[in-house]
Formats: sequence, C-alpha cells, structure tokens
Amino acid sequence: MVRLPVIPCPDFVEYLGGEVQITPDFPLTITENAEGFDPEGYELKISSDGVSIRAARGAGIFYAEQTLKQLKVMGRVPCVLIKDEPAFRYRGIMLDSVRHFTELEGIKKLIDAAAMFQLIVFHLHMTDDQGWRNQTLAWQRLTEIGSKRPASEFGNENDMRKYGGYYTKQQMREIVDYCSKRHIEVVPEIDMPGHTRAILACYPELSCTGEQLSVGTKQGIYSDILCAGNDKVFDLVFDVLSEVMEIFPSKRIHIGGDEAPKKRWRECPKCQKRMKEQGLNNEEELQGWFVNRIVDFLAEHGRQAIAWNESLKSGLIKDNVVIQYWMDKKGLSQAFANNGGSIIISDFYKYYLDYPYGMTPLKKTYNFNPLIEGLNEQGKKNIFGIEATIWTEYMCDFNKLCHMTFPRAAAVAQTGWAKRGSMDCESFIEKFKALTPILKDLGITPAPESEWNPSVFSRVGTVVKFFSNALNWDMIRGRQ
Ligand SMILES: [Zn+2]
Repeated sequence: MVRLPVIPCPDFVEYLGGEVQITPDFPLTITENAEGFDPEGYELKISSDGVSIRAARGAGIFYAEQTLKQLKVMGRVPCVLIKDEPAFRYRGIMLDSVRHFTELEGIKKLIDAAAMFQLIVFHLHMTDDQGWRNQTLAWQRLTEIGSKRPASEFGNENDMRKYGGYYTKQQMREIVDYCSKRHIEVVPEIDMPGHTRAILACYPELSCTGEQLSVGTKQGIYSDILCAGNDKVFDLVFDVLSEVMEIFPSKRIHIGGDEAPKKRWRECPKCQKRMKEQGLNNEEELQGWFVNRIVDFLAEHGRQAIAWNESLKSGLIKDNVVIQYWMDKKGLSQAFANNGGSIIISDFYKYYLDYPYGMTPLKKTYNFNPLIEGLNEQGKKNIFGIEATIWTEYMCDFNKLCHMTFPRAAAVAQTGWAKRGSMDCESFIEKFKALTPILKDLGITPAPESEWNPSVFSRVGTVVKFFSNALNWDMIRGRQ
C-alpha cells in the first residue's frame, strides 16, 4: 500500500484507483457547513474529476488544505477519499521567548510549521526570571528594565553580554493575526507568583524582602517571588493581565503557577499576616489563594486560566482552571482529572523539546501515550489536550530551536490527531522525511535523521554531557 506522506496521518483512507497531477487549475470544490462533522474534522476527496473538501467549519477546511499540500510532495497524487478528525481539542506548541528571544520572523516560521501539522494552540511564554517580553504600558519599567538582562549564564553556555528584547503591542497583534489566519489561538503566559525575578528587578517593593535584584541571568528556580501579602502585587498583575487581554482574544490565559519556592513567604510578616487573615494553614494554601484570586479576575473578564500542575499542591484550586501537567510525582493532576478537572499533558521527559535527542529520542516522544497512568475512565475523558514545549535556555538561535523542535513537535502533533492503535513510528519517520522539503521551504531545518533515535551508547554520553552542563544541581529544570 502507498504510504501517504501526511502528518498527522489521517484515520480513514480509501484508495479510489489511479492517480492525478494536481495543477493550479485543477478543479477544487469546497463545502463549508457540511453536516455530520467534528468541528475540526474534514473529508478530502481526490479523483480525476477534481478535489473536493467538505467540513463543518473553516478549521476543517484549513486542515484538509494542509493535508492536500502535503500530498502534493508526491508529484502525482493517488486518488483517495480521506476522512479525519482530531483526538484532542487542544493541540499546542509552547515557545519560551524569555531565555532566548525569538524575533517575529522566526515566530511566523514556527507558526507556519505548526499549522502544517494541524496544531491549534500557540502558547507564548512571555515572562520569566530572565526577562519580560511583552510591552506593558501601565508599568513601564517592566519593558524598560525587565526586558534586558546583564548576561546569560545557562550551564556552560555563558555569554557575558547584555541580552534583551520584547514584543511591542503592534507585534503581538501581528502574531495574533498571523495565527488566526491559520486557525491557531495564541495563549499568552504571564508566569506568577514564581519566575518573577524580572518584575522584582523593576519593582523591588513587590518582593518579600524589598531587596534590589537584577533580572535573572541563570537558569532554574529563584527564591525571590511576588509577595502574596502585598496588595500592590495584585494591582500590577491585574493591570498586566488587562493589557494582555486587550491584545490576545484567546479564551484561555496561562498564569504559570510553577516552581514557586516558599522560603520567602515563610519568613515574610506580610505573607504570614495574609495567611492568618484568610485562614490558610500553610504557604502552599497561600499560593492556592493567590492563584484563585487571579483565576477569579480572569473569569470576571470571560477568560479561563491555565496553570502548571504545581498549583494543585494547595488543594484549593478551583475546577474551572485547566491544569498543565509536566511533572507530578504525587499524582495530583490525575486526581484532578479523575474528579472532573481538565488537564493538558506536557510530560517533561517526553514533550520537553529542550532535552537532547540522546535523552528524549524521537520514538520516545512519538510512542508516549498522553492518557497517563493513574487516570480512571472519567479522567481519560478529561485530558483536554497535549502540548510540546520549547524551553530555550540551550537554544541561543532559531536554527538550534528548529533542530530541537523538529521532528519531535510533529510527533506530538500526530498524537494530537491519532487513535492510539494507529501509531507506527517507522511509518512516521518515512512521512516526515518526505515532508522535510516543505519545512525547508518555510525556513525550518529539522535535526538530521542520524540524531533522531541515537544508540544506547551515544545516549549515555548525551546524559553525562547534559548534567555536567547544568552546573548547579539545584537549578536543573525538573526539580520540584
Ligand atoms: Zn511576602
């Protein structure tokens, strides 16, 4: 049987016999508002009479067009009837534009590739310890001071030059517009209460100690976080989120909630006072209170919050929050889903694309089942989706970013559409190779095939190199 070079691979393919050359003037019929389709599903029929696309909505038509574009790499295309619909409603790719900044041009290339693989969410991680990347008018120092750091000290890859960058309001609108034309929703992330050293460098009075800090230069987890006992913190957060909501029309806004050490809160009179006033038993509950306050603010504006799974530690998080699972040793995410909450799966050892191929080979990403252990039948239904994450501490330029991202992001996209039984990594590899010319035309160069699934021997070498590079053990991504 012919292997169609299509990713995600369609669930239903019927060969009608013969093949055709699809020239620009080849007849094309598009039927929108067709009945009996999933909102993103489509039917694509290629015959000697022409191409016909049927779908309920624009997204389905767009996905059929992407499939058709991929098929054309074959030259003469077999006559087929294809039907497909996604397995998950949320199929995302996250870009950390803080540790290293991706210019608009790079973002557009990444979006073109995401659209080709029929992803539907672009999660833009815009704020962190090492920088503030979204222009903010109400608190101007965030962009004036917070967008620059004195140096970059990521493992052994140090660069002692100043580093900076941010997106203007106009550029952020352009990203939203570019994505929307490709049926992609941009979910902006403003990380809090941890990963906020860039804020504290601008407004030291918002930390528990008031000490003047610089924008972070190292990877990992910083002890200084927003003071939960200071009402001015919420003034800033609400102003920032209001500006974010003006630009980004997405139903959901990501509010971080990860890796927030509680040392400062334990020692801070204001945080301790807040806990007493609110009847909170410990600092994790204080984070729960903090996060819920933001969740309520977003809900008042018709938006839903997404938060990383650490926010569940408080036991207080409301079930209208979507939880993004990356590492959860206590199974709180599974329990959340089993009790009706929605979760997005970004398992750090399978979907974190900053890990070298020697640690996370393509087949590991490809074969990962997002219906993770610990979910009951109800919990499995509450897996809202999946997301590949591009953390950029070790990706200092766009070429390196593409190298780490592809083909693994395409494997995640495949999982986003596929029924589990249909997964076959060897076939995926052949398809990806056939599609590589399209990616190159988009300005994206994937890692060479020789690196995708390294031998055990070379994998050991990669692991040793990776950990020796991340010099400070306390600051290795992955610690909770
Ligand atoms: Zn405090």
